[in-house]
Amino acid sequence: MLGSTSIVDRCLWRMGILDAASPLRVNVPVFTGIVGFHLLALLACIPWLFSWSGLAWAVAGLYLFGTIGINIGYHRLLTHRGFACPRWLEHALTVVGACCWQGTPMNWVSVHRMHHQHSDDSGDPHTPRAGFFWSHMGWFLIYDPALYNIATYDRYARDLFQDRFYKWLERPRIWRNIHRAQWAAFFVAGAVVGGLTEWSLEGALQLGLSWLVWGVFVRTVAVWHITWSVNSVTHLWGYQTHDTRDDSRNNWLVGLVSNGEGWHNNHHAEPRSAAHGQRWWELDVSYLTIWALERTGLVWDVVRPKPKQRTPVEKADEHAAA
Ligand SMILES: [Zn+2]
Ligand SMILES: [Zn+2]
Repeated sequence: MLGSTSIVDRCLWRMGILDAASPLRVNVPVFTGIVGFHLLALLACIPWLFSWSGLAWAVAGLYLFGTIGINIGYHRLLTHRGFACPRWLEHALTVVGACCWQGTPMNWVSVHRMHHQHSDDSGDPHTPRAGFFWSHMGWFLIYDPALYNIATYDRYARDLFQDRFYKWLERPRIWRNIHRAQWAAFFVAGAVVGGLTEWSLEGALQLGLSWLVWGVFVRTVAVWHITWSVNSVTHLWGYQTHDTRDDSRNNWLVGLVSNGEGWHNNHHAEPRSAAHGQRWWELDVSYLTIWALERTGLVWDVVRPKPKQRTPVEKADEHAAA
């Protein structure tokens, strides 16, 4: 992990957050983006930028971008192939996921497959055994060349690596344009609605900025922390239904807030299953969405949890009870 030092490294050394003797170096573009987005999200504290419709966009965005883009697109479809769908739908889900600024599909899928292969072991990029902060966000703030190279993508995400669409998404210009487009879309839509309802330039500017701050900045930061909680919280706290030989847990709070990703022990037990909730209280809105899409015919070959195999002891108990 050796690399040249940056001004960010030197600041963190002075603050005592990083050790100057350590070979770890900050991933400056990622660090700047993460800090920048958190600061932009704080604009939500300015009363002039508040609107109920902006708040509604932030809440709806958790589902529209976090659940549909990340949970269903990046995770259950691209990483685990838990269901099949037409190419246009796969690409649409991917672009929605890309709007969450969690990395390119090839990078996200590689890191996550690495996590499943080496769960809570030395090859796991974000195990909490290295500390809560490390598993939550430290692992990508520090530059690790092993996570950003072609050999890794070829090894862990060959299906995407050999696909022209996903190679196209690796281009920085395309990546930047996706983000510019969503910023513009939220601002312009808000400005049009604000201009028409208030009939003033200030009204247009106010609602445009409100939708941008709440619909993009606040929502992006919220979706980040929800996704990161799956890496940190659900490998620390919760119950284990399956003996998966890792620290994965089913955590009801993350399960509810993330729309189903918090049933993480179930997921580690059967990674390909498109349904993470297995018991009646394990609400999995992401799976319910996939199920609804299946009913419309847009999705097929949905992988579901295997029926539970009864142990010989359970069979004997049932026999005795009968
Ligand atoms: Zn995990
Ligand atoms: Zn997974």
